[in-house]
Order: sequence, then C-alpha cells, then structure tokens
Amino acid sequence: MSARDRLTIVIAAFDEAHALPVLHPRIAAVMETLAADGIEARVLYVDDGSGDATWQVLQGIAAGDARVALLRLSRNFGKEVALTAGLDMVTEGAAMILDADGQDPPELIPQFVAHWRNGYDDVHGTRMSREGESWLKRSTAHLFYRVIQRLAKTPVPADTGDYRLLSPRALDGLRQLRERHRFMKGLFGWIGFNRIAVPYAREQRIAGQTKFGFWRLWNFALDGVTSFSTAPLRLATYVGVFTACGAFAFALYVIGKALMYGDRVAGWPTMMAVILFLGGVQLVALGVIGEYLGRLYEESKQRPLYLVSVWQPAPAPAVLNTPPDI
Ligand code: UDP
Ligand code: MG
Repeated sequence: MSARDRLTIVIAAFDEAHALPVLHPRIAAVMETLAADGIEARVLYVDDGSGDATWQVLQGIAAGDARVALLRLSRNFGKEVALTAGLDMVTEGAAMILDADGQDPPELIPQFVAHWRNGYDDVHGTRMSREGESWLKRSTAHLFYRVIQRLAKTPVPADTGDYRLLSPRALDGLRQLRERHRFMKGLFGWIGFNRIAVPYAREQRIAGQTKFGFWRLWNFALDGVTSFSTAPLRLATYVGVFTACGAFAFALYVIGKALMYGDRVAGWPTMMAVILFLGGVQLVALGVIGEYLGRLYEESKQRPLYLVSVWQPAPAPAVLNTPPDI
C-alpha cells in the first residue's frame, strides 16, 4: 500500500467529552467505507488540554478501536496550534481535518478523498449554510472574509474553515510554516497547489458550547489581518499624510486671515478639536504599530509551538511515526 492510500483524520478536541462518543461511531463507519475503497484510514485525536473528561473518553475510544491514535498537549494551546501538533504527527499519506463537535460531517470524507485521488492537494469544505449560528456571527464572518480577501495577497476562500483534506505534499508545505500566530485559513492559502472546494451544509454542534466567543473571534480576525497584510501600517501613513496636508491648508488659511483681519486671540474650541483629533490619530497609529511589534516580539522568542504530554500511536499497523523535532 502506498502513501497515496493512507489517510489520517486529525481532530482537535477541547472539552468535547459529550460530543466525541457520538462522533466516533460516525467516523468509524466512514473508515469502513474507505477501507472498502482501498484507503487505509486512521484517526488522531488531539486533546488540547481539556479540563473535562475528554482525555478519559478518548482513552475509552482508543481502547475499543485500534485505528485511533491519541495526542495530549501539556495545556490548552488553542485550536490552531492543536491542529498543527496533530498534523506534525502525520508523516505518511494525506490528512483530513475535522471538528470534534460534529459540525463538519464525516460522512462527506469519501468526496474529499475522491478529489484527492483526482490530483487535488487542498480539498476544502465551503459552508453553504450554517446551522445554529447567530445572525451576528454569520454577518461578522461575512464581513471578515470580504476584508481579509481584500487585504491578503494569498487566497482566503469565503466561508471556508479548517474542514479540509491535505495531500502529502501540501502537508509537507504546511509543516514548514512555523509562525506562532497561526491564522490557518491564510496558511492553507499560502501553500498553493491544486485547490478545490466541496460545498456542504454546516451542521449544529452535537453537544456543548462554542469556544469561539466574540473576543476570541475578534482576536482571531486581528491575527488574520496582521499575519497576512501590512495594509494597516500603510493606512497609518496615508492618514498621516492626509491630516498633514489638511493641517497645512488650514495653516495657510489662518495666516491669511490674520494678515487681512489682524490677529485676535480666539479659536480655543478649534484648537482643542484639532489637538484632540490629532492625538487620537496618533494613538491609533501607535496601536497599529504596537500590534505588529507585539507579534514580532512573540516570534522572536522562538518558543516551541506546543509541548506534548502524552503520545499514544494507533496500535494498528503504523501509519503514524514518532513525533518529529519541533
Ligand atoms: N478547539 C480546540 N482548542 C480550543 C478551542 C477549540 O481544539 O482551544 C476545537 C474544538 O474542540 C472543536 C474545534 O476546535 O473541535 C472548533 O471549536 P468550536 O466548535 O468551539 O468553534 P466553532 O465551530 O464555533 O467555530
Ligand atoms: Mg464548532
């Protein structure tokens, strides 16, 4: 069997003790279908430092299924890093990324595999509908995709998350990107190769709550913009040039007026308005620089992306190898 026929389903789970027991039988059924089709499939669950019974649940699942590998991180590192850790362990064949909450239906995996067999490297699921998500989340997501598509030089397809299959060479490419602030959607786009979308209806969460509240999504959006664009820095320059030109024109007007009508001390409100406005603009510009500087600082520390607490390979014939040096 060649690496072309191996597939590892990588699932990052954080406090998903109630969803996993429902999800795994669905995945197991899909793996049977794939096996009949000549694909040797495995699952790798990454426990992203869960505080609930997720790890115990996962051990139960692994005990009953020899195709299951487990990885436990030393603490909660966030979905992006947990996925990276999981993908690092896949040293042969392709990888399929899935959410642990059942929002990405595993039943569609054979469709992804079919595209992979047709020579595609990045087969990504594109949401046609989003069940159980608020109007606010949907509209802000819509806006975010439009903004990031404008700003980023690499393609970031709209309504596309982490639900995707990566061919071995795409996976190899992704593994070389070791940045700390990991905006995965952008990183996937950066790799390139042959890309194709699989439309799907995003299901509701099986159980539990979303971990991506407003602030987390906001920070995620900031990470996206700063990782893939320096346009905000340039914007600060343009605002500066614009206000400087305006100030110059205003100065000419004030001087002209003083020459013609004499200089009476007046205009305190105007002065305050100008000072406050410029102060605000300067602080915003400083904040923008700070955002980039902070990220530069994080990168410069060169810390490992994650630490592994437990690595438990699948007992079934090895698809997964020992962890590479991070
Ligand atoms: N997740 C994770 N680490 C985290 C937060 C989330 O591994 O710190 C996992 C979570 O278990 C799920 C996936 O990332 O499998 C997506 O999370 P969630 O469903 O909360 O996000 P949403 O679907 O609402 O965007
Ligand atoms: Mg979800």
